[in-house]
Amino acid sequence: MQLSCYNISMITNVSAIDFNTDDNSNEKINTERIILHCDMNNFYASVELLDYPQYRNLPVAICGDPKSRHGIILAKNNLAKEKNIQTAETIWQARSKCPELILLPPNHEKYALYSKKINEIYCQYTDLVEPYSIDESWLDVTSSPIFSNEDYKNKGMLIASEIQRRLNEELNLDASIGISFNKVFAKMGSEYKKPHGITQIDYDNFKKLVWPLPVNELFYAGRQTVSRLHDLNIYTIGELAKAQKSILQNALGRQGVFLQKCALGMDTSPVAYYYQDRDVKSIGHGETFSYNLTNEEEIETAIKRLSDRVCSRLRRKNIFAGGVKIDIKDPNFNLTSRQKILDNPTSSTPVLARESIYLLKSNWKQNAHGEFAPIRLISVTAINLLREGESIHEQLTFDFNAEEKDKIRNKHKKIDNIIDELRDKFGDDSIGLGVCGVHDKNKQNK
Ligand SMILES: [Mg+2]
Repeated sequence: MQLSCYNISMITNVSAIDFNTDDNSNEKINTERIILHCDMNNFYASVELLDYPQYRNLPVAICGDPKSRHGIILAKNNLAKEKNIQTAETIWQARSKCPELILLPPNHEKYALYSKKINEIYCQYTDLVEPYSIDESWLDVTSSPIFSNEDYKNKGMLIASEIQRRLNEELNLDASIGISFNKVFAKMGSEYKKPHGITQIDYDNFKKLVWPLPVNELFYAGRQTVSRLHDLNIYTIGELAKAQKSILQNALGRQGVFLQKCALGMDTSPVAYYYQDRDVKSIGHGETFSYNLTNEEEIETAIKRLSDRVCSRLRRKNIFAGGVKIDIKDPNFNLTSRQKILDNPTSSTPVLARESIYLLKSNWKQNAHGEFAPIRLISVTAINLLREGESIHEQLTFDFNAEEKDKIRNKHKKIDNIIDELRDKFGDDSIGLGVCGVHDKNKQNK
């Protein structure tokens, strides 16, 4: 169901509060926005248990394939949490703590399907629904026609309770919901009480509820930022709110000022419109190899395969990469990222692959025998995306080989088109580039 008559302009007749802190002078914010943040509890495990009701009262974890390097815990139910099972620990560690732990493989397609069903329920209250992850979304229900006669505090609470009840009844899943006048506090509200909590953080109680919390619990405060705040003797969100802006500015730059605004409830960011053509910022694919790649040919093949997947998605959406980024992880999980702007925007697999290979080769160690330093993971991401018609003009190159280059480009285009046609007819996996780092068991690393 799509409601579209009421919700784009969401500013209603509400009072605006002036926040006169330090020199955040005269910024007006709408404290009567009603923003919900809905967070599904134990999402993967709860969805799996719908298919395995016999395990409902047992500790259950979702994990990668126990035989591969992906064998880590991805999610768990409450009973597994009680046994101190942690996300990202190995299956071996988990089993040693809880031998009776039931392990189930992940099924990402199923989770995506449920995520869609959940968001469809949210869209019955407002079109301003912004998924933050597969199991979390913000909803701006300020102008929702549901419970429209109630005042803003009751309205938020009534809608949150109804959504929570419907998720239970219709999908047999549970959510915790935060309600506030901004996205940051709504998100923190959904964390406040789990499972099955509803927490309202409004203008009257946010200093009581949020300010005593440790500063690392402020949404957006990363680990490095938190440690710098600790250096400034700032340990709680309230201390951050009351800190002198100039000190934050000096120590943390704009990030410090931004975080202080969040602590003061001055996050004014809007909730995005669910049905709008999402403003895709990048399209990427990555792959973790079952053994570390060092061989040039294998690395090139992997990059070609990843570029192929990225470009296939670009072409389907009719968009072009204005730049490319590669991420490389070594066996110790150290991440190297490099990016470059492309001379001409492209959605051609050979071009993106060539540029990605160039980026890797110019940034990754290679020894005298031509072997590269071991690589555990590579991802290729198209960045600076442009839609058709958005200044996609190839620069005129006064190049003696221009005609030859044109021929090659047309040949590539034809191949890409054939691949796309085959995929449209027979599915994404019907055609692809060679596979490496997957089947060769002899090379399996520990
Ligand atoms: Mg969750």
